Amino acid sequence: MKKPAIEGGTPARETKIYYGHQYIDDADIQAVVDVMKSADLTCGPKIGELEEKLCQLTGARYAVVCSNGTAALHMAALAAGVGEGDEVITTPITFAASANCALYCGGRPVFADIDPETYNIDPEKVEAAITERTKAVVAVDYTGQSVELDRLSEICKKHGLVLIEDGAHVIGTTYKGRANGSISDMTTFSFHPVKTVTGGEGGAVLTNDETLYKKLLLYRTHGITRDETQMEHEPDGAWYYEQVALGYNYRMTDMQAALLISQLDKLPLFRQRRKEIVARYDEEFSRLPGLFVQREIPESDTTRHLYILRIVPEKLTIDRKQFFAALAAENVCCNVHYIPTYYFPYYEKLGYKKGLCPNAEKLYEEMLSLPLYYAMTDEDVESVIEAVTKIAVYYERKQCLR
Ligand SMILES: *Cc1c(COP(=O)(O)O)cnc(C)c1O
Repeated sequence: MKKPAIEGGTPARETKIYYGHQYIDDADIQAVVDVMKSADLTCGPKIGELEEKLCQLTGARYAVVCSNGTAALHMAALAAGVGEGDEVITTPITFAASANCALYCGGRPVFADIDPETYNIDPEKVEAAITERTKAVVAVDYTGQSVELDRLSEICKKHGLVLIEDGAHVIGTTYKGRANGSISDMTTFSFHPVKTVTGGEGGAVLTNDETLYKKLLLYRTHGITRDETQMEHEPDGAWYYEQVALGYNYRMTDMQAALLISQLDKLPLFRQRRKEIVARYDEEFSRLPGLFVQREIPESDTTRHLYILRIVPEKLTIDRKQFFAALAAENVCCNVHYIPTYYFPYYEKLGYKKGLCPNAEKLYEEMLSLPLYYAMTDEDVESVIEAVTKIAVYYERKQCLR
């Protein structure tokens, strides 16, 4: 029998469980193999098929798939017209790419604080951060819960800003009954293996705006066009094409697209399982005084990509670091999403200082991400709950002991 991680407690689970893992089945594998035996490994039919599928799924008019979610954000920032000296407002509780996309374009990220209970960017803090130089807002649907799109759209319209939704976590979520991806000026997706559906790597930008769509197509392929209406000179012959902007090679392969088409068929299953796990966690953790459960806004029907466990430091005798270590001793391997972006040395050197966003900084001190993925068994879920509960109860601060 394994030694209990907490004295007198039930033994730790036998095997390690991680915070995220992809789910690949035989249909996924066959889809990739079929492409490998076909004529087109890239720029083939699977690209258009996937784009069509993303449009059907979300109701967006256009989708441009690309090499990864970071490339999607870069293309969106370029299409939004972000350039030298422009400011882009975003949240610090996100992956670095949400802010880096502004830097790629010569712009400057401006961090607006989060709501202390939903953990999403606070629209009023966004409005307060707007200056003459603000060009765009990158709003992250953190953990998969939609940002407050009505209020953010209203603010962006009023101030003439482009609303880019970083939807790396959001696939499968709806806001007021409409799928995220069809609402903002542009929404980006990521298909990294920890996300809800994966292509190995992959990304997409969704938009309803034809002008933005045409720009995105150019940025994906070097700024090169074969469309005569976009050319500045007379075509020289059938081989002729022109480079009319500075673009990149941000293309997705047909293997990735085929994998994603197959993965998207399973999205309803992924969504349902994630919702079940989140409901079980919420049910158990909301009873424990030492834990705070993320608040859901009623407008968002959420497919959660991450489950955030937040401790209430006043009610526990251990801090987040110790809670994290105690869970690791129980073989529950967590993560932290995210370190506030402006804490990083690269951002420090650009002049950003701690203290910018107090709600975000407090959340960072108190949170960790629990295992959440489709392939978790009921036993996995229950053993995570058991471990968390054991620790939260054992280290509860008893009033009478002080
Ligand atoms: C994963 C992620 C990205 C980047 O996506 P990649 O596909 O890894 O480049 C951007 N923003 C957020 C919020 C993410 O979680």
